[in-house]
Amino acid sequence: MTRYAAPGSEGAIVSYQSRYDHFIGGEYVPPVAGRYFENPSPVNGLPFTEVARGTAEDVEAALDAAHAAAPGWGRRPATERSDILLKIADRMEADLESLAVAESWENGKPVRETLAADIPLAVDHFRYFAGAVRAQEGSLSEVDEDTVAYHFHEPLGVVAQIIPWNFPILMATWKLAPALAAGNTVVLKPAEQTPVSIHYWLSLVSDLLPPGVLNIVNGFGPEAGKPLASSPRVAKVAFTGETSTGRLIMRYAAENLKPVTLELGGKSPNIFFDDVWEKDDELRDKALEGFTMFALNQGEVCTCPSRGLIQRGNYPDFLAAAVARTELIRPGHPLDTDTMIGAQASGEQLAKILSYIDIGRQEGAKVLTGGERAEYDGDLKGGYYVQPTIFEGDNRMRVFQEEIFGPVVSVASFDGFDDAIRIANDTSYGLGAGVWTRDINTAYRAGRAIQAGRVWTNCYHAYPAHAAFGGYKQSGIGRETHKMMLDHYQQTKNLLVSYSPKKLGFF
Ligand code: NAD
Repeated sequence: MTRYAAPGSEGAIVSYQSRYDHFIGGEYVPPVAGRYFENPSPVNGLPFTEVARGTAEDVEAALDAAHAAAPGWGRRPATERSDILLKIADRMEADLESLAVAESWENGKPVRETLAADIPLAVDHFRYFAGAVRAQEGSLSEVDEDTVAYHFHEPLGVVAQIIPWNFPILMATWKLAPALAAGNTVVLKPAEQTPVSIHYWLSLVSDLLPPGVLNIVNGFGPEAGKPLASSPRVAKVAFTGETSTGRLIMRYAAENLKPVTLELGGKSPNIFFDDVWEKDDELRDKALEGFTMFALNQGEVCTCPSRGLIQRGNYPDFLAAAVARTELIRPGHPLDTDTMIGAQASGEQLAKILSYIDIGRQEGAKVLTGGERAEYDGDLKGGYYVQPTIFEGDNRMRVFQEEIFGPVVSVASFDGFDDAIRIANDTSYGLGAGVWTRDINTAYRAGRAIQAGRVWTNCYHAYPAHAAFGGYKQSGIGRETHKMMLDHYQQTKNLLVSYSPKKLGFF
């Protein structure tokens, strides 16, 4: 086991500035209103830096810079934009450990995840879109012998991007890589809970981007996010966050008739068919691990498999093994490489999770394990820790229907295929789902019947850049990842050209 030194302490590989301003037009710029807010680490609840508290004036300055840079960036050959994305990826890879530590310190997640998943996925995402934009082709249709329809891709211009706090660098990357590859300039607002990881990332790569191509305005949703999403000067608003905020974003953008893409909440079912339990082999073991994925990233994942649906035939045995497996999840210091579950990202999130655990108890769900805040002394004193928690109950309960966004799973049994699909789809959300079975027909039919944008079969929480990700129902509009994202950040220009001298014939 390795313990990375906490930023600011002896031997630390990450050090922070005492204050972070906005990044506008290639420079750090103080907030017009002169206000800052404190940023605590969830590891111990103590502030480690302060961050500019943006307002509409800062957003306007960022939009000025993004508009000034847009024509130049948009006209650059795709090969040049692609090269810049590849260089960003190389720098990130070279500094993977410090990025991983910075993100863990600010978000509270275990460094084994940021080292193995979050940052490598972000690196790969830049590389994927560097390639995707070069492979993109226009098209030509022959309308008739003398008339041709050419289709070209053009950037939208200046796009607004607003992101959450659960994967600060990866969520930024999911938005930035396709937008920049497609030739747009960006004004991005990070979440107020985790603004600094992105500034840390920026300190490694900012010299690679021409001034104004990427602008970052820090601050709170109503003060900085709203003016950005409401601005008539943006060509599109891309948002990831809660469904209730997504509704507001759509309203703001509708005033200016601007397109939105929304990546929102979820209440994903993880379905275990009887046959998975029937042999004591690797797949059975993998399925048990698949069940515990509700605690990955402390459950702060939009696709958290927060409803465990287990077929009745082997329900007691599967559930007992799943509880035992959950109890092996090792809590600890997020900067220890063998810690499996770290801190929740903020004090508000901790309070929300604990209140849902109370709600579950009150509505009669049974706690099979966990159910409490985890409190520690020493380095972790004051941090935001929760025990992985399993509820047993009924799909009508609030803990089955509402997004908790913590390490909490609500478990129920089902009778057969149709019952599984009925319960799985009995939700207002439709983001992710898991299906565990040895039967390929069951897997295929379940995958097609579940109303969700991503259905994992015999795996969970894998996010390759080349697989489309996004929500059905209240979980969103549009997709992230996959080369289809380029379409979300481009206009189609059609040139309809006649090569015939013949008259049009109407007048
Ligand atoms: P949130 O909606 O509270 O905040 C997200 C962002 O929106 C933040 O930057 C915030 O400052 C900003 N914001 C808040 N109010 C705003 C307003 N009125 N106008 C403009 N901007 C505003 O969400 P959160 O708590 O940061 O993130 C957790 C949520 O994100 C969960 O619901 C989770 O499921 C969802 N999420 C979805 C995906 C996905 O891909 N579908 C990925 C990650 C997280």
